[in-house]
Amino acid sequence: MTSERDIGTCIACGNAYVPGLIGFLRCPRCGLLYSRQKAGFGNPIKGMTAIAFRNYAIVANALERVMPLREAKVLDVGSAEGGFTELIQRKGGVALGLEPDQEAATEALQKKLPVELVSFESFAGGEKEYDAIVLNDVFEHMQDPDFSLEKSHKLLRDGGLLLINLPLSSGFVFRMVSAAARLGMESPYRRMWAQGLSSPHIYFYSEANVTRLLAKHKFELVDQGRLVAMATEGMYQRVRSTYSPLPALVISAVANLVALTSKIFPADVKYLLFRKK
Ligand SMILES: [Zn+2]
Repeated sequence: MTSERDIGTCIACGNAYVPGLIGFLRCPRCGLLYSRQKAGFGNPIKGMTAIAFRNYAIVANALERVMPLREAKVLDVGSAEGGFTELIQRKGGVALGLEPDQEAATEALQKKLPVELVSFESFAGGEKEYDAIVLNDVFEHMQDPDFSLEKSHKLLRDGGLLLINLPLSSGFVFRMVSAAARLGMESPYRRMWAQGLSSPHIYFYSEANVTRLLAKHKFELVDQGRLVAMATEGMYQRVRSTYSPLPALVISAVANLVALTSKIFPADVKYLLFRKK
């Protein structure tokens, strides 16, 4: 048997983790979930780009409401093919994308976008050099969030912004999938964690515990908002690429229903905007 001492303490509140669903760890005090998976440099699922671009626009607008983007130095961490980097440039910002995946970084460089083939962990940036740092679907993949937040704090100027866009354990879909896992249907829960895939989720946060973790690193929450978790357009075609017609019809119908109804339930994906104190 593993003792509590062996499985460590919660990075957000310091409480000891306890075994949660299917061997994943859970903090009984703040609800942080931890998979103990190893970080990878894989790409997000293809075919999700339309949703990604809708979310990029929401995220850029959220930044713009707090800080003028013209001339602003913005670090786009995990920039993939550079969609968000390009958007910041179009808005007059001085963007730099960081992407550890060679294929994605090469694609961005071919489009002449300012992207470096490097992980955030190895990136050598100047102290207080940036006005804003954006983590689009990156934070939940980070192996050592304490290190990344300390580094973000150093790289940001005083009053600089840190925007984190992430899936939430407090979201409707995650709760449904967790309920299913408790009944023995484990595969959707493992899928939520991207278990066994090239870029697994290391932690699953809620608004409350991620805010607590950020407060520990001297960041205060200034804004938050809902993002698009899945789009109903082309749902059948996306599902059909992995399933035969009849299951695809049933799955896409259910997924569409969830996508529509989940707008009135707790958000599955949000951005949280923090300011360096
Ligand atoms: Zn905790």
